[in-house]
Amino acid sequence: MTTTEHADDDTDPTALSIEDARARILAALAPLDACERLPSGQARGRVTAIDILCPMDVPRFRASAMDGYALRHAEHDRTLRVTGRSLAGHPGADRLPEHGCVRITTGARVPDDADTVVQQENVARDGETVRVTVAPTPGLHVRAIGSDYSRGSTLLARGTRLAAAELALLAAHGLSSVEVRRPLRVALFSTGDELIEAGETLGPGQIHDANRALLEALLAGPSVEIDDLGICADSLEALERTLDAAHAADLVVASGGVSVGEADHVRSALEARGEIALWKIAMKPGRPLTFGRTDQGQAFFGLPGNPVSAAITALMFVRPALEHLLGLPTSGLPPLRARLASALGKRPGRVEYQRGVLETAPDGEARVTTTGLQDSHALGSLARANCLIELPLTSSGAAVGDTVTVHPFAHFANPPL
Ligand code: AMP
Ligand code: MG
Repeated sequence: MTTTEHADDDTDPTALSIEDARARILAALAPLDACERLPSGQARGRVTAIDILCPMDVPRFRASAMDGYALRHAEHDRTLRVTGRSLAGHPGADRLPEHGCVRITTGARVPDDADTVVQQENVARDGETVRVTVAPTPGLHVRAIGSDYSRGSTLLARGTRLAAAELALLAAHGLSSVEVRRPLRVALFSTGDELIEAGETLGPGQIHDANRALLEALLAGPSVEIDDLGICADSLEALERTLDAAHAADLVVASGGVSVGEADHVRSALEARGEIALWKIAMKPGRPLTFGRTDQGQAFFGLPGNPVSAAITALMFVRPALEHLLGLPTSGLPPLRARLASALGKRPGRVEYQRGVLETAPDGEARVTTTGLQDSHALGSLARANCLIELPLTSSGAAVGDTVTVHPFAHFANPPL
């Protein structure tokens, strides 16, 4: 007897695992190599197109790591005369007279003859002389030339997203412009005769399109531009027109019209002019996922119409595809583990992503609670959540106190693409 014979089992031997589906998608996509040079100040969130080599040593001169006195280590147990000052931006004399020391501040240049800085708390000053009260090790508190980055080394590897630290590195090395990949263009549309725009008055049986707003917010960023192609009717002609309008995009993302058994116009439209794979994926929500290529060679994603399914398949498949096309590594932040504060129902056979609220319990432990109704049309479950709770394929539910895997939304969204 196979597991599929149980009514409470959701196993489908023809379904792909999430990992297999993702691997097939990435294998079908070649990273784009078009690039452009931008002023560094406009490059936030963009991705480096080449290895950026370090044009200079940083620090460029031997610098003090403390406020104190720069001296020769060999003379530290004598009374030393304070012969000058070296302040940040005002380096003072290069040389240091015998039995002398200079007052120095953090980041200031250490005179050539000095090899050690003693912090001011470890020195007794008397007029223009000092005595060291705590013996330093040789070289203490002197930052070596090139100890952060040395000239010619790789400052930023190709395929690095430029966030705060990376932009600071470019600036610190005097680089006012940078070679980045051009942004991806993603054409986005919703399918469904029942859909109208927010702001329009609903007729009988109509609903407002939620998925374009959802998917634009999940996918758009400094490296991803969205071409909004609006709402497309459930007809072959309308779909063909919309695909024509997507001609400038690198990738096309549609939602709706991909459920098995319905008037599957999305599939027919793409089959007529490109190639398509409709996969059953062993996950919930989001079992049917369409992936293919248009006749113009653009990658195509057909996401399920229910908003929660569209959101989760976008996070699990479309975002990794965009990262791959941008030349970024696709391994996201690792999931966390948290203790369940509410029981979760599930049938074995699919990996399930339920929406949860992750918080710190009074005892300091990570604790996660369900957001309630988990139906894939229930946007409220997404809006109240700050994470996805992942229940493995074989799980048949989880009890209060169980430890579960959670994916905080911040892991997907931070930083934006
Ligand atoms: P479909 O995949 O087209 O069969 O859609 C599945 C369900 O999701 C149906 O109830 C649709 O009305 C709903 N749906 C499809 N597209 C959208 C959308 N863009 N916004 C909100 N609901 C949608
Ligand atoms: Mg539909």
